[in-house]
Amino acid sequence: MPYGRPTLVQRSLFFSIDGAVSAAVNGKDLSSTHPFWQDAEKTALNEDSTKELSEFVFKSANRFRSHEVCEGVEDFREVWKTAEDAEIDYNRFHEPRFKVTCRSTECLTLVPSLKVKRCSYCQSVWRLLSKRSATREGDAQTPERKKAYKYLNTPQKTKRMKQISKDMKRLRASNERLKRKV
Ligand SMILES: [Zn+2]
Repeated sequence: MPYGRPTLVQRSLFFSIDGAVSAAVNGKDLSSTHPFWQDAEKTALNEDSTKELSEFVFKSANRFRSHEVCEGVEDFREVWKTAEDAEIDYNRFHEPRFKVTCRSTECLTLVPSLKVKRCSYCQSVWRLLSKRSATREGDAQTPERKKAYKYLNTPQKTKRMKQISKDMKRLRASNERLKRKV
């Protein structure tokens, strides 16, 4: 059998005889500071530690299985591109929890259970996107003529400038007429 770690599998958990343990989810290594490791105690394999180590492997594998992949943010698709520290995940590993999602570039990948939708980093992205989406909706409801110049897009700005210069001409003309009358 070839030696080495298979990559690009949904989930894998590795134990080495020196007690080091690591995990990968959807081809991405789980960071060594991930909360998943908080109770993990390094146990090297030796004559006295076989029972302890096998218990640790069993416990870790069970915990790993009960964890779920973070859902990221499936809502607010219209503003996904505005999130600076997020990326689109096209779900090439066919995770059942989401189809296509937007997740933080610092996404923790795993969350402790089915009840937790997304990790803390993706939750921040969710808050940001929900605010931006609400602002955009509010914006869409404001008629163009009432919007401040800086909130207009380029064609709207051109149109506004033309309107202003038309208004100025009209004002000047009526001003001239008034002057003549006086
Ligand atoms: Zn996440």
